[in-house]
Amino acid sequence: MKIKPFKNEKLTDFSKKENLVNQKQALAQIRKKLGKTYEIIIGGKKIRTKNKIISYNPSNKEEIVANFYKGNTELVDRAVETAAKKFNEWKNVPPAERADYLFKAASIARRRKFEINAWMILEAGKNFAEADADTAEAIDFLEFYGREMLRYAQKQPITPVPNEKNEMVYIPLGVGVTIPPWNFPFAILVGMSSASIVSGNTIILKPSSDTPMMGRLFVEIMQEAGLPDGVLNFLPGSGSEVGDKLVTHPKVRFISFTGSMEVGIRINELAAKVQPGQLWLKRVVAEMGGKDSIVVDKETNVSVAAKGVAASAFGFQGQKCSACSRAIVDQSVYNDFLRKLRMEVDKLSVGSAEMNYPMGPVINQNAEKNVLKYINIGRNHGKVLTGGRKIGGNGYYIAPTVICDVKPDARISQEEIFGPVLAVIKSRNFDESIKIANNTKFGLTGAVYTSNSKKLEKAKNELFIGNLYFNRKCTGALVGGHPFGGFNMSGTDSKAGGRDYLLLFMQGKLISEKIMNK
Ligand code: NAP
Repeated sequence: MKIKPFKNEKLTDFSKKENLVNQKQALAQIRKKLGKTYEIIIGGKKIRTKNKIISYNPSNKEEIVANFYKGNTELVDRAVETAAKKFNEWKNVPPAERADYLFKAASIARRRKFEINAWMILEAGKNFAEADADTAEAIDFLEFYGREMLRYAQKQPITPVPNEKNEMVYIPLGVGVTIPPWNFPFAILVGMSSASIVSGNTIILKPSSDTPMMGRLFVEIMQEAGLPDGVLNFLPGSGSEVGDKLVTHPKVRFISFTGSMEVGIRINELAAKVQPGQLWLKRVVAEMGGKDSIVVDKETNVSVAAKGVAASAFGFQGQKCSACSRAIVDQSVYNDFLRKLRMEVDKLSVGSAEMNYPMGPVINQNAEKNVLKYINIGRNHGKVLTGGRKIGGNGYYIAPTVICDVKPDARISQEEIFGPVLAVIKSRNFDESIKIANNTKFGLTGAVYTSNSKKLEKAKNELFIGNLYFNRKCTGALVGGHPFGGFNMSGTDSKAGGRDYLLLFMQGKLISEKIMNK
């Protein structure tokens, strides 16, 4: 079958009544399924344990979305052994067949889009458009990585050597562990898992304890697509217990992690230690946190910049690794920018994700506490322009908060808060703005608003940022168009959704044959 070129999935237009109705109907259907209990799945077998992980609705704190049997260290051994056995078969399945499972899964996810969105709205607190973009990105990953595998399966270009027949092929690594975060609970989980699987590896997927239902949905979809048992093993469990054991298991060949800097560093350290019986150095793909800046120059349309900053800072309550958490603004437009930014932020009402408020809750009680702690720290380092408080209701609601007059080295300007808090920093000129933008340990995303092409050129050369955007917001990377990953403590710059990504899950094998004269 001829495969069409990759194209990004269309986003659902919720200004159309029929789409809103469809989404609300899907939510009503999902509501009937809330509170069920789901098993661990290893080698296709459903397993129950004594303990459970409970997934709650952050918009309505006591409401249980689903319960999950909780994995333990014995099950880690069983899952790794099962995946290792299955790897011996799966690695020999032709790449085109492996890609086909992803294409089938993409069409199933497309058909079940409103349902996936509904689970995400309830489990992660995303509004309709944010949930829909997440599902669309997951579909994009499936379509893109399927095509990428077909590309890597083709004859690879190498320099000809006289009297030799030479070939370079890419083979899988082995058993992988996939550890995704809760903030793109479907897209990132699907992207990391499907890239590993399509490359010929078998995996153990440990979902985030905040959003295990999204992992369970992916498993269901892959089962519906006909993926053989044992290729994708589903093991919910606590990061510290199950996570550590998975990472240190000698039969695990690679770890694909996306999450915080602290956990990423820990995984990298643990994985580096060679365990008794281990035959390889483990490969770690770790995509971690950010402290992303938008530079607003004096030569720009300040209203447009204020809109871009507000969207980047407060979309999904600022809980994106790509979210803008620092606006660095030229002194000559500083007051004008603050006035316009405030107008934008004041438009953002906060409430239940299910009611499709522009801003919903933060993910859980710890996140709420942490964000409020940083707001209090920020009061000593600047002036609260707007927000700065918890909002009533039965969810973890926090007002979008802008703290201005913040010094570049203040804690709220340096540490990842991961919530709806934006620090605004005044700078003397463009050169100083660039220096400030580079002064954190992270290097994930960032943007520059200026109409001056020389300044853009300087930013292009000097900003040490994995995903750098000009005259647009710094969130919303598209698979294929904006390969994603950051520098320094933002991670290994894996460039998810790009042409280099699958190589992280494969190894090159060179075969050279001497041509004998007859
Ligand atoms: P997190 O707390 O680091 O958790 C991420 C995953 O790691 C979860 O599945 C978690 O499981 C697991 N985990 C925790 N401790 C572990 C351990 N010792 N060993 C193995 N796994 C362990 O991060 P998060 O709160 O879910 O996500 C937010 C963070 O992710 C932010 O820092 C954000 O910037 C970052 N992020 C980065 C990117 C990127 O592309 N660079 C994209 C999205 C998010 P439990 O849930 O069971 O603890």
